[in-house]
Amino acid sequence: MLSADQRRAPSTLIAHLDHARREAIANGMVWFWLLNLLALFFISVRYEVYRDAGLTKVGMLPWPFDAQIGLATLLLMLLPVIWQAGRRLPDRQWLHLTCIVVLIWGTAWAVHIYAIGQVELRGGESYANGILRIHLLAALVALYPSRRIFYCYISIPILFDILIRVFFPVNFIMLQLLGLACGIISLEIGRRILNRWFELACVREYENLQLLRRLELLADQDPLTGLANRRHLNRALEQALAHCAVNSSPFALILIDVDYFKRYNDYYGHQAGDSCLKELAQILLNSVRSHADLVARYGGEEFMLLLPDADLRVATEVAARLQLALARLQLEHLASDVCDRVTVSQGVACWHSDESSARLVERADLALYQAKLKGRNQFRVAL
Ligand code: GH3
Ligand code: MG
Ligand code: MG
Repeated sequence: MLSADQRRAPSTLIAHLDHARREAIANGMVWFWLLNLLALFFISVRYEVYRDAGLTKVGMLPWPFDAQIGLATLLLMLLPVIWQAGRRLPDRQWLHLTCIVVLIWGTAWAVHIYAIGQVELRGGESYANGILRIHLLAALVALYPSRRIFYCYISIPILFDILIRVFFPVNFIMLQLLGLACGIISLEIGRRILNRWFELACVREYENLQLLRRLELLADQDPLTGLANRRHLNRALEQALAHCAVNSSPFALILIDVDYFKRYNDYYGHQAGDSCLKELAQILLNSVRSHADLVARYGGEEFMLLLPDADLRVATEVAARLQLALARLQLEHLASDVCDRVTVSQGVACWHSDESSARLVERADLALYQAKLKGRNQFRVAL
């Protein structure tokens, strides 16, 4: 049986993919945030150690580096809260919000990485470069399912990197820019490969889910009439009673039996009997009120209607409607003792609170028996 989550999974491939992408990004973001906090923690510890060792430059930044670390940490704590607040937004708004959040986040890192390069006396630039590259790779792992979110995140750090090289000329600038271009190409190729695997896994999962849904449908369906079968009926009846017990709402069921159906088969043949049952199934479906009602084949030429929220008045209305619809259809049954058309007898039972499903069905069966005794082609209400 499908789990509750699987049941909720979207039923078109595109919707399934969008849903999976959103889930993957959400999980990736959590991991990425954790990684960022750990990185910030390490950077601040390293800065303390280097400062104590006299390996930091003072006055290189217009602001104190300690304050910057504090601000970056605060921002990293605040952004997930803002982002989490929007997790129930529809897909489009969620995407916009995520893009804005990662854009701010990427900008904060760009400034931070630049500052790291400035404050460390020995090897600060290459340390900052290393952080930038690891950071881009980590962003790839976390955000690859969405091109927009990934590029929103990495664009500002990369732009910053280019601007710094242009405005503070370094040796072999063209070589450095070539390295950066190669890095971006590698990131995009990596992102595409990861994304292809991701989509493939999603498509497989979708196909399996569809297969499961179809199997579950088949396992719950009567092959002749397409109605719910006994297995489905039993489950639905228990669920409906539990629901009505919780909500103190009424519930009724109707047991229906075709009159003299054995004679119908004998007279018209088994195949005609099958067609008659199929037509009857359609009439039953048309006689109930809504999707909340369930029409099931109880077995052989017997059917059952489950009517949640139906009191005696509603249930007898349904039974009368069925009787009338069948009369209008005029399905010939010349072998019947009732009349020259197909008729049904019905037993209506309204649920008493705390009554078991077995007892309820038993009462409906007794009422049906009464209807048969009284001459068929009618309904009787159970006591
Ligand atoms: P009553 O009015 O007392 O209900 O008489 P009945 O002949 O309808 O009742 P009985 O239980 O004697 O016969 C039911 C018949 O329903 C017997 C069986 O051949 C027929 N039946 C059960 N399932 C199917 C089916 O799937 N297709 C067809 N064609 N006939 C079926
Ligand atoms: Mg019968
Ligand atoms: Mg019968």
